[in-house]
Amino acid sequence: MHVALVTVGDEILAGDTVNTNAAWLGKRLADRGVDVERVTVVPDRVEEIACVVSEYRTEYDAVIVTGGLGPTHDDLTLAGVAAALDREIERNEEALSWLTAEGGYTREDLTSGTANLPRGARPLHNEVGVAPGAVVEGIYVLPGVPSEMKAMFESVEEEFAGEPRYTDFVYTTEPESALVPRLAEVRKRFDVSVGSYPGDGVRLKLTGTDEETVEAAAEWLREHVELDE
Ligand code: ATP
Ligand code: MG
Repeated sequence: MHVALVTVGDEILAGDTVNTNAAWLGKRLADRGVDVERVTVVPDRVEEIACVVSEYRTEYDAVIVTGGLGPTHDDLTLAGVAAALDREIERNEEALSWLTAEGGYTREDLTSGTANLPRGARPLHNEVGVAPGAVVEGIYVLPGVPSEMKAMFESVEEEFAGEPRYTDFVYTTEPESALVPRLAEVRKRFDVSVGSYPGDGVRLKLTGTDEETVEAAAEWLREHVELDE
């Protein structure tokens, strides 16, 4: 399963907020064997949200959009998604009855438009905050507040599945340039993908769909590089 993430928010583009939502989702999805192939940050503008979402929904099995859900002037994500699908936004009765029954709000408490979603969307209840999320045509719209986003993602997590992956890490003190021939060799010998991440030493990440092959590849590397113990 191939997924694109779209993060909405001027504050992320400006560097005021670090995009921890995309990092968290990327890890969760990778753990489920799902390939995240795009992470795109867009400003709080309807046309830009609509443009990216309509492109990605034809290219990926699912698109997850986070941020810009609430009732403030800069919360334009649902309008962008509706525009991408050429659908109206309308009051979602299921979202509204959940907010009044389970959420404990009266209709008067709720800011006007709180339960508005693109027509035909399945509402996702917000167990932590107020604004509901939505699923429509393979587009999952989640809140920006990290605690709300995580809880809502966990309610739909089962809908994201791929082939299980196994990973192992090898840490070496050698410079990356010296490792090139051995990285080529390990890739030739074993059906694994190899990531090389320099920093303080080099972290080598081996990933594959067969656990024994990944372990054997890691073992081979441990015998052929200077280990950072
Ligand atoms: P609300 O309904 O409360 O308005 P929202 O879904 O509209 O929430 P935003 O307004 O986009 O979400 O962001 C709310 C807060 O969540 C912001 O203060 C921001 O710091 C944080 N936030 C938004 N997006 C991200 C992100 N990608 N990573 C980390 N934090 C984020
Ligand atoms: Mg907001």
